[in-house]
Amino acid sequence: VCAGAACDGMDSAAVAAAFLAHVDQNKLGDKLEVRTTGCHGYCEKGPNVVVTPGDICYFEVRPTDVPEIIAATLKGEVVERLVYQDPNTGAKAVHMQEVPFYKHQTRLLIGDNPKIDPMRIEDYLAVGGYAALVKALTTMSPEQVLDEVKKANLRGRGGGGFPAGSKWETTRNAPEKIKYVIVNGHEGESAAFMDRAMLTGNPHKILEGLIIGAYAIGAQKGFMYTRHDMPLLEKHVRNALAQAAEYGLLGKNILGSGFDFECELHFDVGIFVSGESSALMRSIEGNPPEPRPKYIRTSVSGIWDKPSNLNNVETWANVPQIIAKGAEWFTSIGSEKSKGTKLISLSGNVVNSGVVEVPMGTPLRTLVFDIGGGVCDGKTLKAIHFGGAMGGSIPADLIDAPLDFDGMSKLGAPIGAGGLLLMDEDTDMVEVARYLMDFLTKESCGKCVPCREGMQQMLQILTRITEGRGKPGDIERLQDLIEVTNVASLCALGKTSGDPLKSMFRYFKPEYEARIAAG
Ligand code: SF4
Repeated sequence: VCAGAACDGMDSAAVAAAFLAHVDQNKLGDKLEVRTTGCHGYCEKGPNVVVTPGDICYFEVRPTDVPEIIAATLKGEVVERLVYQDPNTGAKAVHMQEVPFYKHQTRLLIGDNPKIDPMRIEDYLAVGGYAALVKALTTMSPEQVLDEVKKANLRGRGGGGFPAGSKWETTRNAPEKIKYVIVNGHEGESAAFMDRAMLTGNPHKILEGLIIGAYAIGAQKGFMYTRHDMPLLEKHVRNALAQAAEYGLLGKNILGSGFDFECELHFDVGIFVSGESSALMRSIEGNPPEPRPKYIRTSVSGIWDKPSNLNNVETWANVPQIIAKGAEWFTSIGSEKSKGTKLISLSGNVVNSGVVEVPMGTPLRTLVFDIGGGVCDGKTLKAIHFGGAMGGSIPADLIDAPLDFDGMSKLGAPIGAGGLLLMDEDTDMVEVARYLMDFLTKESCGKCVPCREGMQQMLQILTRITEGRGKPGDIERLQDLIEVTNVASLCALGKTSGDPLKSMFRYFKPEYEARIAAG
């Protein structure tokens, strides 16, 4: 029974309780085992239940469905009314690999979630968990681990796409003896919820990646930094840290290798800019999370001025499989310059919202139509937005563009952390920009004038356009403000605050002009 955040919100706990009660009352414990698992990804159709062996998928399960599922399972049958049914053809799909939402994916990172109770390290070990750590610590030198990650050309999944291996090397080569490694699990990007699915659904995978990275970098201490408002995530991560320590995977002399490493869980203070690398490190120090100038690189001088390597959840989650299967295997997946898979959270006007994983280079059409099931209510696709409040929107006619760090950036819609928002034909693109600017204006830390005041000005102009009071010259005013905030702001929040608008003027300018003219 999926216990991910979305299914949990639809009371999958009651479904799990009904299974447990039925098994108990009917003394079926020797025949059936009931487990709650990490997020399966198909959030739209929760609560999700999977019966193994066979990976039979049941969707939108209610506690009252439980006796029927158990009876069918014991007879080797399937409850037809609870399996996936194609809305157009009526065709049914019983097994996970046949369900359209799953069958077009390559689930290297999230695929273990339905098999794992995130509260049990034994489940993670049973699917090969921590084997990569054993390999790294007992058969490889730190230099060899670093080399493998560099050869894999693993690019940071947090938004920048910077090569993780080069970043690790900078911290490793920094002269200071004390070094830190950090998991950025803040995930403030709007419409992004894949890191949460991973950290809550399979916390040991991220921890394993972090320990391997710490070994390669020469760090003695790590931090998992996340939001304060996700109790399920906190519970699972705390438990994972305690279990790893119990199994001798954290602490002194890990696996007899002589390598010492410990890890602490840290929370934000509830503001968006906490996820910015330098602000996040200030926060870990116990200071207000204010960004600092970028000429001081955190990889050389981060937490308490010590070299600190920060990667996001998905980047760390990729590390164990690179070490276990090798860089050559990893580089065989994906596009020429973006290797591996990418987790994407699908939301907005899409039929199948959820967390999906596809190889880099996959056409957006596959994501939106084959996996996402297209636009809700039979409407037409108008735009695809990537990257949250500092991202960009592209029109529907670019639907065949491949999902790729560089390609999407050139189109003006950088992948960011992977939040994909679909917008249908009724979407007001001026209102979208106003909404995003309103969000950023509220989240600016206010430290520097161009961001604080520039965004306020942009918001005022956008607001008057949406209210039908636009003035001639408003587009030019907005373009000037985009440039100033980009050049003169201190951190990425201010610098890229105008990016959604840039994409609007590139693809949807006539809509803005018409609104101003009508005003
Ligand atoms: Fe704060 Fe904005 Fe300046 Fe960043 S750009 S430091 S969020 S005021």
